[in-house]
Amino acid sequence: DSDTTPTDTSADALRTPIVAVLGHVDHGKTSLLDKIRGSAVIEGEAGAITQHIGATAVPLDVVSDMAGELVDPDDFDLPGLLFIDTPGHHSFTTLRSRGGALADIAVLVVDVNDGFQPQTLEAINILQNTQTPFIVAANKVDTVPGWNPNEDSPIKPSYDAQSDRVRGDLDDRLYAIIGELSDQGFSADMYWRVQDFQNNIGVVPVSAMTGEGVPDLLAVMMGLSQRYMKEEMAIDVDGPGVGTVLEVKEERGFGTTVDIVLYDGTIHEDDTIVVGGENQPIVTEVRALLQPRPLAEIRTESRFEQVESVGAAAGIKVAAPDLDEAMAGAPIRVVGDRDLDEVIEEVRAELAQVAVDTEEDG
Ligand code: GDP
Repeated sequence: DSDTTPTDTSADALRTPIVAVLGHVDHGKTSLLDKIRGSAVIEGEAGAITQHIGATAVPLDVVSDMAGELVDPDDFDLPGLLFIDTPGHHSFTTLRSRGGALADIAVLVVDVNDGFQPQTLEAINILQNTQTPFIVAANKVDTVPGWNPNEDSPIKPSYDAQSDRVRGDLDDRLYAIIGELSDQGFSADMYWRVQDFQNNIGVVPVSAMTGEGVPDLLAVMMGLSQRYMKEEMAIDVDGPGVGTVLEVKEERGFGTTVDIVLYDGTIHEDDTIVVGGENQPIVTEVRALLQPRPLAEIRTESRFEQVESVGAAAGIKVAAPDLDEAMAGAPIRVVGDRDLDEVIEEVRAELAQVAVDTEEDG
């Protein structure tokens, strides 16, 4: 990257922000992720969207194709967005990095008909505790009686094209959500009126069904990341990989494997790694790094593609001996040229922190 100042040891690069989707059951988390994945596949050139293990990467080009005039790729140097595929705050709570949230930003999905529900409040508390910036997707706008859908359109023109009655009806619901956010101590407004996304929560009306507002949602997430998180996204790409275990899985031909999200550095085949385990940190060696074959359905996919190395941010399956006692939510670190005992102690300390955090949010 020609924009970054070279350092004497290694290259800094901007990694992809990691996005989590949270919200009450049935408010549309899965549908929204599916819509983003689906539209990205249609809009993008073949292979532009990449399925990772446990995550979906939507590159800047594809975001820009989907968001149309809302995102000019020249305004951005972050490479895109990486969505964690497992929605919900239980996975969010478990997925920590260095005591903070694994996700850099979150989308809180709220059904416009249902408003705030118990799990919405739980999600808000977790976001508050982990100080994770978030935006609200006010979902299912298409269910407002009389709504005239405009497939995949940005929300403002679609909203403006509705009848006064329909618009008024939606406004009532959106202001109820803004009121609930205010009760929780957040200053919030329709996203197009928000200037400072660091101190105000933007509410984006969307429909995961018709795709309306999805361009806006992507544009706001890209903008938020670029504006407020660029420094945190600057990583030493060549440094030793650091990640969080999403899942521990038996895989035919590979034994017990761990699905991880890598958020810093690079992991290679044959690297010595330390993984948080039930009793103690596990020290082992990477036998294979596996990713799903392009465009495959990752939940059912059994055929993987082997890669030599992968850099953050990415979702990847790691096959290695002795992973039986590895734990979801545990840290994974490449040792590289660091002192092994030091890395083991780091993993041990991080694991203790995860246990405390999980109990507190319990
Ligand atoms: P989750 O539990 O939050 O992941 O919610 P789902 O994505 O499974 O959605 C719950 C139900 O709401 C499903 O029947 C979806 O088809 C429906 N749904 C989700 N988003 C929308 C939307 O924008 N409009 C409409 N009409 N239905 C939706």
